This record gives sequence, C-alpha cells and structure tokens, in this order.
Amino acid sequence: MSAAVLSLRVYQEQQVAAGVRRRAHQQLDLFLDRLEAGMDSSPEERPSLFQMSEMVRQGRGALTGGLLQAYVSKAYGSYLEQQQAACPGCGRWLSARPSRGRTVETLVGPLTLERPYFYCAGCRQGFYPLDQALGLSAHRKQYDIQQAASALAVEMPYREAAAWLSQWTDAAISDEVLHGMVQQVGAPLGLLEVCPTPAQVQEQIAAVAGGKKWKPIMVVAIDGATVPTRPEKAKGKRPGRKKVRARRPRWNGEYREAKGFRVFLLDEDRIVHLVSWHQIQTEEELGQALQQLKEAGLIPEDQVRLCVVADGAPWIWKRVEQLFPSARQILDFYHCTSYLHTVAQTQYGADGPQAQEWLEATMARLFDNEGAGVIWGLQRMKPVSPEAEAAIEKTLTYLAPRLEQIAYGSHRKGGYPLGSGAIESAHRFICQVRLKRAGAWWYQENSNLILALRCAKYNGTWDQVFQRYIHIAQNNSNASQG
Ligand SMILES: [Zn+2]
Repeated sequence: MSAAVLSLRVYQEQQVAAGVRRRAHQQLDLFLDRLEAGMDSSPEERPSLFQMSEMVRQGRGALTGGLLQAYVSKAYGSYLEQQQAACPGCGRWLSARPSRGRTVETLVGPLTLERPYFYCAGCRQGFYPLDQALGLSAHRKQYDIQQAASALAVEMPYREAAAWLSQWTDAAISDEVLHGMVQQVGAPLGLLEVCPTPAQVQEQIAAVAGGKKWKPIMVVAIDGATVPTRPEKAKGKRPGRKKVRARRPRWNGEYREAKGFRVFLLDEDRIVHLVSWHQIQTEEELGQALQQLKEAGLIPEDQVRLCVVADGAPWIWKRVEQLFPSARQILDFYHCTSYLHTVAQTQYGADGPQAQEWLEATMARLFDNEGAGVIWGLQRMKPVSPEAEAAIEKTLTYLAPRLEQIAYGSHRKGGYPLGSGAIESAHRFICQVRLKRAGAWWYQENSNLILALRCAKYNGTWDQVFQRYIHIAQNNSNASQG
C-alpha cells in the first residue's frame, strides 16, 4: 500500500473521529443548556446540592444516550451507509431501502438508529444488518436494562422492582413488561443450567483441600421450605385486562413444599457454597435432580468426604443409598431432638425439671454414640399416659433404624455437621425472602421460575443464565429474520 493511500485512510479516520467528538460536544452543550435553564442563579434562589444533583441526574440520560449514539455512528459507520446486502435466505443482492428510525433504550439513555433496511421479495424476509451487528434485543428495552430489571425482580415484587429501576436509573419499565421479561430469562431453566461447572467445583475443592491431611467434607443438605401457592384455576382474566380490582378470591391458597438441597464444602467453620436447587416438585423429581448432579460430575466422591444431612423421610434415604452408597448419613439433629422433646414433655410434664434432666441426659448419650442405649431406655420407659405412649412409640419407630445416622459424637469428632439448622437458615432464604410476602400467592410455574433464578444468583451463575437467555433470544430473532 502506498504512503499516499495510507495517509488518505488515516485522514478519513481522523475526520470520522472529529465528527464523533463534534456530536458528543453538541450533546454536552444541549445538556448544559437544559441544566442552566433549570437553575436559578439569583443568590436567594440557589438550589441545594441535592436539588442540583437531581437536575443533573434527570438530564444525563439524554447526554449519555447521545454519546452512545455518536460512538455507534463511529464504530458502525459502514452499516449506516450500507447500500447493498446479500439476502441471508437466498444470497441474492438487495438494495437498501429507506426506513424509519428505531429508538432503543439502554441503562444510560435512549438512542435512535437511522439505518438501512433490506427486503427480499423472493424470501419475503426483511432485515437490518446494523441491528444484527449490534446484537440488539427485539425489545425496545435493551439487554442491559433487562439484566438489571430481572436482577431486581429476583429480589423483590415486580412492581417494586419496576419502580426502583425507574427512580434510580435512566431506564423505565412497567411491571407487566418486567414480568414477561423475567419469564423469558428464566424459562425453561433446569438444575444444570444454574450450576457451576465441574471444573469450577473442583477448583473450590482444591482450594479447601490445599495443604490439609484429610479430604474436605462435602455436605449435601436436603430440606424443604413452604411456599404459598394458588391453584391454576385462579387464572381468570387475560393479562392486560387485570386492572379490575381483585375481588375476594374464589380459590383457596395452599402452602406447598419447595423441596431442594444445598451442596457445600466445609472449610473449618466456613461454608463454601456450591449449589442450591429448590423447586416445588415431587420426591421423584428431587431424586432425579440429585442424580443429575451426580452424573454431571458435580459431586466428585473420590475427592471429598461426602455426607448427607436430612430429616427422617424414608424416601430421601432410600434415594441417597442408591446414589451415594458410601456417603456418611446424618439425621438432622434438630429433627431428632424435636421427637425427644415430645417424649420429655408428655412423659415428665411440660418443661419441668425432670423433663429437662431426661432430655439433657439423652442428648449426652447421643453425643457418646450411645444411640442403642437411648433406644433401650425408651423401650423400658413406662408411659404415664396414652399421649406419652404414642410419643415414645413414634420416637422409637423414628430412631431405632437410624443408629448410625444419630451417632452425633462420631459425626462431631469427624468434623461433620450435625444438622442442617444453621445451614437451612441461609438456605431457606432463597425461598422465603422473595416468595413469602403478605398477600402473595404463587402459581407453581412462577414460583419455580423465581426459585430457579434465585438459585442461579446464589450459585454465582446469574451471568451465565443471562448470557444463555441472550443467546436464545438472538437465535430466535435471527431465525425469524433469516
Ligand atoms: Zn432471499
């Protein structure tokens, strides 16, 4: 390439850059004009800092949106002036047609794109090369707004999230649109899509294992939390016509269990979170989820000391034995003690000194791994009432087949957790903070969607989930255009 041609190109690039600067400065001037018009400069009427910051905030969207627009013109100039394009369907060359501008909104303000349109009469398909090159969302609100809005909606009711976004950013969204958007981001989202990769899990294991003699303890804690749900038949009016004030519902809400698990590593006293997964689901589905986890290589049994903590539900343990035969099984200590409490209260009187004494002695025996002795004592106990007899019977049925699971002394000595209580509190957070709100009753589908997204957030896979959504949305829009 000759020096003359090179310098011509450099010159043209400089011209374009200068043009962008000019447009950006024009935006700044407009911004300053608006700002000055809003500020009274007389000494008595000077605005406070609070008021000034508010004025700047109100006007900055137009400025930063304008800057964005200037840079799009610079980086995508060739698309803006494109005269010819090959049809993605048949390859025929098409000429640009004039088109109306498209205004899109971003977190930093709106921008209007005036760009050529191409239409193939043979394929009956139209397309905008610039939109594709920029990776625009088909929505007016672009992906950055969608990401921020759906992140908020995972934390709070749609209406609050929408209000929050409008108030504190340069983007606005209605709660109905937000609701639809979250449905697209979250559906269909399965367990593995909200999980870290096996490599990420192994990295965490290696970090905890570093320099220690024993393999790290990996805990699978299985539990449930209740979610207020409403039946499908509560779906009455079509969306968009629901402004009619809700009458007294003709359906009854129901508390249902969101079953799930949390997988984590123990690093001394620290919990290293790996995976949470909660859904309103059947026992069978939860069992399948555990199996998926195992088959995906997310529970590398050879690298950890695996233990499972759960309550007494027999189906859980049956499934655990199939999937993780070598895992240490721990009956949740709090579940265990609640049975013993009932025995103490019915046999020795509510909260009396004798009840307390018996309870303490029994716990002490469990911590000495004397489960068999506790069972033996219960068997010899002379019930003082039918209630006491029932409580003793129930406790015996519950504990007798679980001597290894209730060897709390040995669990503690090995460094294993005794229960999921402390864990559950963090765990239930996923379900409760968002789903249990005054007057909120959820359709199963919607609650599972929010649960999946909240799990993604706590599993550190929110970005991965959002990128997946963008990918699917782009493929859909390319498919409909091409
Ligand atoms: Zn064509």
